[in-house]
Amino acid sequence: MHRGRDTMLEGLKAPVASKLCALGARRLNLSDSDKELLDNALADTTWASHSLYFALKELGFHVSKDLIGFHRNEVCKCYKISTQLKS
Ligand SMILES: [Zn+2]
Repeated sequence: MHRGRDTMLEGLKAPVASKLCALGARRLNLSDSDKELLDNALADTTWASHSLYFALKELGFHVSKDLIGFHRNEVCKCYKISTQLKS
């Protein structure tokens, strides 16, 4: 990831990114087409969370199996924020 430039704050993210779960935060770094593929897979109930975990890991997108389940069930950090904002 070193780009040969003299930067130390390159990895600084907007505050919202750190409030997402690891899956949500990593999702933000994906290209739009990858985001769409990920969203579709997450929404697709034919994907069991553990199968999706292995498939994603195989492709270099490594998040924990539990987290995939939490994110799908909307009980991860991402959704806690939106719930708080709504109320
Ligand atoms: Zn999440």
